[in-house]
Amino acid sequence: MNASASALALLGGTPVIDAPLAPFRSIGEEEAQAAAQVVRGGVLSAYIGAAGEAFLGGPAVRAFEAKAAAYFGARHAIAVNSWTSGLIAAVAALGLEPGDEVITTPWTMAATATAILHNNAIPIFADIDPQTFNIDPAAVERLVTPRTRAILAADIFGLSADMRALRAIADCHGLKLLTDTAQSPGARYGSGFAGLFADIGGFSLNYHKHIHCGEGGILVTDDDRLAARLAMIRNHAEAVTTAQEASELAGMLGYNFRLGEIEAAIASVQLDRLEERVASRQRVAAQLNAGLAGLSGLRTPQVADGSTHVYYVYGMVLDTQQLGLSRERLLAALRAEGVPGLMNGYQNIHLLPLFRHKIAHGTTGFPWTASPRGDAITYAPGLCPVAEELHARSFLGLALCLCEYEPQDVDRVIEAFRKVWGQLDALRA
Ligand SMILES: *Cc1c(COP(=O)(O)O)cnc(C)c1O
Repeated sequence: MNASASALALLGGTPVIDAPLAPFRSIGEEEAQAAAQVVRGGVLSAYIGAAGEAFLGGPAVRAFEAKAAAYFGARHAIAVNSWTSGLIAAVAALGLEPGDEVITTPWTMAATATAILHNNAIPIFADIDPQTFNIDPAAVERLVTPRTRAILAADIFGLSADMRALRAIADCHGLKLLTDTAQSPGARYGSGFAGLFADIGGFSLNYHKHIHCGEGGILVTDDDRLAARLAMIRNHAEAVTTAQEASELAGMLGYNFRLGEIEAAIASVQLDRLEERVASRQRVAAQLNAGLAGLSGLRTPQVADGSTHVYYVYGMVLDTQQLGLSRERLLAALRAEGVPGLMNGYQNIHLLPLFRHKIAHGTTGFPWTASPRGDAITYAPGLCPVAEELHARSFLGLALCLCEYEPQDVDRVIEAFRKVWGQLDALRA
C-alpha cells in the first residue's frame, strides 16, 4: 500500500520514509590529495612568533587566504582554527573597554554572544525579525546607549541580516558593525556576498557547514588596521615590537587561533565546491517551496529583496492557532513519518543560565559590574518576545546540513508533510 495513503505513522500506519538518508558528505579524492601533499612535505604548521613573513603562517594558509579574499571580494581574509576563535578575535580587534556594550541577536549559536563576554564586554540582546529570523534593526536602534560600541549581527540559516539598516544605525551612533556569517557563506546581499558588509565578518569551516575542513574559520575585512590586529590576535600578539604597534595594543590579548596547513589545504579545495553546495541547497529549497505551497498554517522561508538564501536551515513558521494543534504534536507526526533533521525551535541565547544569572567570569557578576549601567541590564523571559515565541511554539526547521537530499528524498519529505496535513483531524482527535 502507498504509505501516504495509509494511517499516520504516529497512529500506527506505515511511515513515508523508512530508511535514513545518507549523511552529508562533501570530502573527496581532491581533499585527500591536498592533505597528503602537506603531510608529505612534513610542515603541518609554519607560523613563527616573531615579526616577519612567517608570523602570518605557512604556504597553505596563505594560499587559502588569498583564494578566499579573491572569492568573497575582501581586501583581507585571515584564517583561524575555528569560527568561534574568529568571533573572539573580531570583537577583540575592536579594542573595547570592560563593560562596553555590544548589541547582538538571541537567535544564533552561543559563540556569537560569548565572543563578547570573552572580551569583557556586555551582550545586549535585540529581538529578531519574524520573517527573516535575523536581528531586527528597529530593536537594535532602541537599545543603543552611550556605552554601546558595536553591533554583532548574525546572518542566520543562510540569509544576510539587514546590513544596510544596521550600517545606518552604526554610522549614526559611531558604532562598529560585525557579523557572524557561519551559516551563510556564498549568500548574496545586494552587490556582494553576505559577511562583507560589516567591518569584520567571516565564516565557519566546521564539519556541519556548507564547506568545511574539520574545524576552521575565515575572517574577512576591508580594513587594513583591523586586519593587522586580527593577525596579531591570532598568533599571541607576540610580534608587537614597535611603539606604534604597542599603541595599538588595547584589548588585544593574543591567542593561538592558528589554522594548520592540512586544514588550510583542504579548505582551499572546499572553497571551489561552495558554488555547487549553494546551488544544491537552493534546488532542495525550491523543491520544498513548491511541494509545501498551500499547506494551511505553514509558512515557508522568506527571502529579503536583493538577497539570496543558501539554506543552512530551511526555516518554517506554524500558525498553531489556525491549525488547532501544537507544534509538538505535528512534530511527533512528522518524525514518525521519518522526516530527517526536524528542529523544534532554535535558540534563545539570552535565556541561558550564563545570562540569566550573570555568571560569565567567576561568580561576582563581571563584566556587568564593570559598567555603571550593569545592574539595569537583566536577561529574563519577555526580553525578546519574537524570538521567544518562535522558539517556544511556532518555529519548525529542517536542518539541510545533516543529509544529502536527492530530489527523490525531497519528494518523500514533501509527501510526509502532505500526508500529515491531509490527516490533521486524526491528529487533533
Ligand atoms: C557554527 C557556528 C559558529 C561556530 O563556528 P565554529 O567553527 O564551530 O567555531 C558560530 N556561529 C554560528 C551562527 C554558527 O552556526
